[in-house]
Amino acid sequence: MTTVRTRIAPSPTGDPHVGTAYIALFNMCFARQHGGQFILRIEDTDQVRSSRESEQQIFDSLRWLGIEWDEGPDVGGPHGPYRQSERADIYKKHADILVEKGHAFPCFCSAERLNEVRAAQMAAKQTPAYDGHCSHLDPAQAQQRVAAGESHVIRMRVPTEGVCVVKDMLRGEVEIGWDRMDMQVLMKADGLPTYFLANVVDDHLMGITHVLRGEEWLPSAPKLIALYEYFGWEQPVLCYMPLLRNPDKSKLSKRKNPTSVTFYERMGYLPQAMLNYLGRMGWSMPDEREKFSLDEMIKHFDINRVSLGGPIFDVEKLSWLNGQWLRELSVEQFADAAQQWAFNRDYMMQIAPHVQARVETLSEIAPLAGFFFSGGVALTTELFAHKKLNSDQVRQVLQFVLWKLEALRQWDKEAITACINATGDLLELKLRDIMPLMFAAITGQASSVSVLDAMAILGPDLTRYRLRQALELLGGTSKKEAKAWEKLLAD
Ligand code: GLU
Repeated sequence: MTTVRTRIAPSPTGDPHVGTAYIALFNMCFARQHGGQFILRIEDTDQVRSSRESEQQIFDSLRWLGIEWDEGPDVGGPHGPYRQSERADIYKKHADILVEKGHAFPCFCSAERLNEVRAAQMAAKQTPAYDGHCSHLDPAQAQQRVAAGESHVIRMRVPTEGVCVVKDMLRGEVEIGWDRMDMQVLMKADGLPTYFLANVVDDHLMGITHVLRGEEWLPSAPKLIALYEYFGWEQPVLCYMPLLRNPDKSKLSKRKNPTSVTFYERMGYLPQAMLNYLGRMGWSMPDEREKFSLDEMIKHFDINRVSLGGPIFDVEKLSWLNGQWLRELSVEQFADAAQQWAFNRDYMMQIAPHVQARVETLSEIAPLAGFFFSGGVALTTELFAHKKLNSDQVRQVLQFVLWKLEALRQWDKEAITACINATGDLLELKLRDIMPLMFAAITGQASSVSVLDAMAILGPDLTRYRLRQALELLGGTSKKEAKAWEKLLAD
């Protein structure tokens, strides 16, 4: 019997998402339960959006949760490299094989032509799709153009009629019509692969036997299945996991719920509780108990107990469960957990320089700097009364700074200052007009230590969270405003 091998394949393009941790947990449990291996692969072929910082955050937050992988970019393994950006030659070779076999073809269409086709299709109320223009080219001539260095992509051929039967571990057989599949680009003009080619090639070469991924990928499954067939490879067993949802049933999004694992770490959730809660997403223990450890989950794991109902990621429920975990710690463990979280020397060393000059007794530390040790802070609208700006302008400032900070990948005082300055330039305001608002939102106090330093120390998650809370308190940003303001920001 072949060994079970599962994987997660996150793209390092933003904050480490709770959805990634959830899929990782189920893949790890499945592999462990079968005595197999769990692999982490980084899908960073989107060179513009991918970053090493984001990759590191994925490693750190999965490890914080207690998720460990047997092979990956940072731990190595026999099937490396485990970062797609380091496997370009492998994809090129495989794209060439598909072209040779006639399953894929070079496409020389210009962006202008593709736009025209798309516009015409939209006008005729058709679903936009590639019209197959270059699929009819004579292969020998096409190869000559490629050899002459003409810019091109590689597209796959797909059947034009009939249905593809996707065998899913949870749903059984799902039929998807081939007419809904586009002649997908497999290799971009820059010579790097798209998700489809890289994912199939890697899953095969890395010996992946079971793919548990989010159900947002189900509609495109036929393209992957076709690629397995074209290569003549055995397809792994597929399992499309239900998507995490907001309490209003919409897809979990950071507009409605914080989605970064690091946010929950900074808020003081225990990793065990967080992992336990993720394990409750669409899955239950045979005896339905709510609180269980990772070892217990692995011991009782059964993929067939995943229900497709659309699990709700509810922060209140998570907090309740976290409370259970906290209360069941011994007093000693509780003190250790608190110390590890923020009452530690490292954190104190960051705060101390800003506090030292402002206190006369050590007992003044807590009143002055207590906001460093909380998640949100108590805010009142009075804190945001402004000498020069009316309440709409105040909201606009908070929203602009928040957007700028949300886009920030490197978090330090200089970068934060640059975001605030850019907001000032855009709205024709001075730094001293903006800073009192930052002060109020971040510290919840009328005076304290330097707020730019405080934001740098608090980190992106808590800083953004507090700005969001302030915005909400002041009435939030309406859809109409968001549209107009986003435009202003983009100009
Ligand atoms: N890179 C994809 C993602 O970021 C992987 C999806 C899959 O598991 O195939 O979700």
